[in-house]
Amino acid sequence: MRKKFIAGNWKMYTSLAGARELATAIAKGVTDDAVTVAVCPPFPWLLPVGEALKGSKVLLGAQNCHYLPEGANTGDVAPKMLLDAGCRYVIIGHSERRHVTDEAERSLNLSVKAGLKAGLHVIFCIGETLAEQESKLTEDVLEFYLDSGLSGVSTEAVRNLTIAYEPVWAIGTGKNATPEQAQDAHAFIRKHFAELFGEEAARSVLIQYGGSVKPENAASILKQPDVDGALVGGASLKAESFLAIIKAVK
Ligand code: PEP
Repeated sequence: MRKKFIAGNWKMYTSLAGARELATAIAKGVTDDAVTVAVCPPFPWLLPVGEALKGSKVLLGAQNCHYLPEGANTGDVAPKMLLDAGCRYVIIGHSERRHVTDEAERSLNLSVKAGLKAGLHVIFCIGETLAEQESKLTEDVLEFYLDSGLSGVSTEAVRNLTIAYEPVWAIGTGKNATPEQAQDAHAFIRKHFAELFGEEAARSVLIQYGGSVKPENAASILKQPDVDGALVGGASLKAESFLAIIKAVK
């Protein structure tokens, strides 16, 4: 039985005071373990948000990491630093990093492996652009991202991996995949995951949907058999809507 997992990606939003307030309200609103819940604030807020979450059921995550353990890498953050800051999770390969920051496939693959090796749980994002979807390339793109991003990852290590299916055309646009579109993509990801890591790993791996998830559409998407949770951007910036999405799971 896969436990549903809802993570909030705060992107480059929130002030320090706002981040503390948001974390405190979310921590207060998550009162049981029925759903795994994490929030991923910007790097400078990891420690204060971690403080605000202390003693709660909400876990901490970061939005990216470098693949090196340390070095002359100005502006980057190493996986071990995230662990030391209290993170359990790290997002890798978000489309805003693939397509806006131009992060290369090779470095994403190295970051996935480095994050897992350091002991973080990696949320690995994949998804097609609108042009790719219109050209009926969704499955090819998903297969390519899984093959390249998870190359060299062991069957043992994927126990600490979540896949986030995030169609790029649905992120921050207000357009979400229909429950059927999400289910089809998730079933395809699980099938290909089985080819890479075996049936047992594929049965256990969590596959989140991401792309304009809101309280109004969460229940219909989250009840699909291969949708194991959501990676939530905009709606995770308000405790009320994020908590409503968590409630929708139940
Ligand atoms: C995201 O940031 O991963 C995301 C899915 O954003 P939004 O929910 O705003 O579309």
